[in-house]
Amino acid sequence: MMVQYQKIKDQYPDAFLFYRLGDFYEMFNDDAIKGAQLLELTLTTRNHSSKNPIPMCGVPHHAVQNYIDILVDKGYKVAICEQMEDPKLAKGMVKREVIQLVTPGTQTDAGAGNAKQNNYLTALTRVDQQFGFAYADLSTGELKVATLSNFDSVLNEVMSLQTKETVVDKSITTDVIERLQKIGILISHQDEVVTKSELSYLTQDVELPEQTAVLNHLLTYIVTTQKRSLAHLQRAIVYEPAFFLKMDHYSQRNLELAQNMRTGKKSGTLLWLLDETKTAMGGRLLKQWLDRPLVNRTDILNRQNKVAVLVDQYFERNSLQEELTQVYDLERLAGRVAFGSVNGRDLIQLKTSLQQIPKLQHIINELPNDTFDDILKRLDPIDDVTDVIERAIVDEPSVSVTDGGVIKDGYDQKLDEYRLAMHNGKQWLAELEASERQITGINNLKIGFNRVFGYYIDVTKTNLGKLPEGRYERKQTLANSERFTTPELKEKERLILEAEEQSTDLEYKLFVKVRELVKKNIQRIQKLAHAVSELDVLQSFADVSEKYRFVAPTLTKKGHTLDIVEGRHPVVEKVLGRQTYVPNDVKMPEDTSILLITGPNMSGKSTYMRQLALTVILAQMGCFVPAKSATMPIFDQIFTRIGAADDLISGESTFMVEMKEANEALEHATANSLILFDEIGRGTATYDGMALAQAIIEFVHDKVHAKTLFSTHYHELTVLEDSLAGLKNVHVGAVEQNGELVFLHQMQSGPADKSYGIHVAKLAGLPDSLLKRADTILSQLETTQDQKNTGQVVATNQSRDLPEPDETELVQSEPVDLTPPEQADDTQLSLFGEPEKEP
Ligand code: ADP
Repeated sequence: MMVQYQKIKDQYPDAFLFYRLGDFYEMFNDDAIKGAQLLELTLTTRNHSSKNPIPMCGVPHHAVQNYIDILVDKGYKVAICEQMEDPKLAKGMVKREVIQLVTPGTQTDAGAGNAKQNNYLTALTRVDQQFGFAYADLSTGELKVATLSNFDSVLNEVMSLQTKETVVDKSITTDVIERLQKIGILISHQDEVVTKSELSYLTQDVELPEQTAVLNHLLTYIVTTQKRSLAHLQRAIVYEPAFFLKMDHYSQRNLELAQNMRTGKKSGTLLWLLDETKTAMGGRLLKQWLDRPLVNRTDILNRQNKVAVLVDQYFERNSLQEELTQVYDLERLAGRVAFGSVNGRDLIQLKTSLQQIPKLQHIINELPNDTFDDILKRLDPIDDVTDVIERAIVDEPSVSVTDGGVIKDGYDQKLDEYRLAMHNGKQWLAELEASERQITGINNLKIGFNRVFGYYIDVTKTNLGKLPEGRYERKQTLANSERFTTPELKEKERLILEAEEQSTDLEYKLFVKVRELVKKNIQRIQKLAHAVSELDVLQSFADVSEKYRFVAPTLTKKGHTLDIVEGRHPVVEKVLGRQTYVPNDVKMPEDTSILLITGPNMSGKSTYMRQLALTVILAQMGCFVPAKSATMPIFDQIFTRIGAADDLISGESTFMVEMKEANEALEHATANSLILFDEIGRGTATYDGMALAQAIIEFVHDKVHAKTLFSTHYHELTVLEDSLAGLKNVHVGAVEQNGELVFLHQMQSGPADKSYGIHVAKLAGLPDSLLKRADTILSQLETTQDQKNTGQVVATNQSRDLPEPDETELVQSEPVDLTPPEQADDTQLSLFGEPEKEP
């Protein structure tokens, strides 16, 4: 046996091999030592009397799924090795085979808490300078592919998909692999490619070589690990990141779209606020929409118009929600149908869900105008499937599909005959019991059944004397009774057991037939699932929009006017409460590209910036936005540098990360982008930082023209308003009351007039004497500063490398010149004041 074990184990060196041995799955050797530790199992040995006993541990077969899940969740792979023949019938060694390799990216049995999450397996290949990138969710059958031009884009994709496993081939270099491993992604190698003709339709729409290559090795990996039907895999959809609003993973994290930065959980995120979906598939689609807001105006309005209808139609929206609650996870049911792992209860769930579809149709028909026609068209109740399940499957089927109790009476004539025979047989037994009691006068005489001895007549010891001699044959002796049989009873027993066996066999066959019929309809079920999930997300948008008083944003066709009246950060508002939250405007007409935000710490600067980003994302997802009114252009990208993001991926210093992110924005932003820079330059020495901040502002102003919010604690920078036409100062208001500082959280035009640092320190409870001393130092410094400055705090306009007037024209319509301006020789840091003495 160990020879067989080793042979199989050699094929799966990087997985735990669960080797079926009777009622257990056993692990041996290193697998056993590590497995016992990870799974908290008792480690024993095989051949313990020998010199080299083999370490071993095992798990009972009925609980195996649990243990597999634990290992896979921890990032390991598990190869399930089954007995391929009945050990009782096997001649010699029982044949065994690995029937599935479960890996983090191919795990399909989502626990209850994961229903609203996709589990994506990703794949990567490189052809020339391009990356071919693909991903699949095996539980839903989703399959997508793209060409990505650099590793950063790859990182963005894998981070936002939250993939746990990436399949690579030889073309992927070690440095790329290491960077992926650093963020906790399991790398699986798949060099060999086997193309299966029955899967060729999946790649039908794919033309580019890197896309075909990556799909082929992804599919090969799936086929070799799953070893089961993949009928639910959907034809690969080619997508382009440019079809969507681009955000890097720093921004997604910073803005807490789906993951709370502190806890890593969903609570306290935009997703948490938005999720009023009633189905698991709607929940997953919502997350996908959040990861990829749109950039095409027609597509956005298509969603927005639907949301508008549902916001108005309160009654229909409510009914929709009610009906959607009864719709089960059609996508994953379809997956289980393909895998052949559905049971009777799954089919009842499918039926229940399909029966909701006519109700959904009815509600949509009640809605005014034809906004929902495209969804209505796709709401196919798949009557043939509902019908067959309704006719064939009992309402409360047993869990097992092989033990009977699944098929309805009247569905199949033969089955009815077997059941009648069983029924008659049992009737006969009941009559026999009654008549034997009468004949023998033994009132507690019973007819019973057990698996080993079959049917018997049970007579208690005390009554044995009443039994006429030779009436029954003795079968079994127990402590308190004797069990008997008769030739007649034996004959009936044979008939009943035969009928029972035939009946369960037939039930299973009939069930498989129903399942096959359903399987033929997988694609229809998936199409329907998409329509239902869309409807679900749209009702969720409408629900949230009404609940939190969102409005439909006006998305301008041309130009860059941004005008938000009384905007709010919806998550902060929800947490703080509506009374406490102070709404704020964002006024950026066509010719204003930069808002320079000053104000004390903790006054609400970064909340204001995030608020704008969330508003843009919500608008481009097709949702309403948290404001009194909103007019905005459609943005192509959002860049953020907010808060201190420790870089998990490269382990670089915060300042380096800050500069890299700034560079990312300066290099890739266009006039249609949104940039949020929070306190850029704070990570280095004052003059150094201020100089950089100013240069960055000028660069954005002159060359990039992206709408930019720039918060700073360098009050000196506020004079830039005089020299940069597209820059406006705003500040967060605060008032002093009785020597205390009160933040108004209210954005006002103009620069903040004073640094409130000392007041904040006071709020924080620093000693009075210390605060007094700080006051004195400050006034001294201010006097010296005033004497030294010639009224000029920051670098002058003259030192700027301004584009030629006609170049400006060009910059606005053509891609931005990406080379940074040459630092002019006459730009002198001394213009900030005397560098040797910091204020
Ligand atoms: P800053 O970036 O200026 O240091 P934050 O944006 O982090 O300040 O805001 C500090 C705190 O002030 C937030 O945690 C929030 O509780 C509160 N706050 C921010 N903006 C508002 C607002 N508009 N209305 C009410 N409270 C706000």
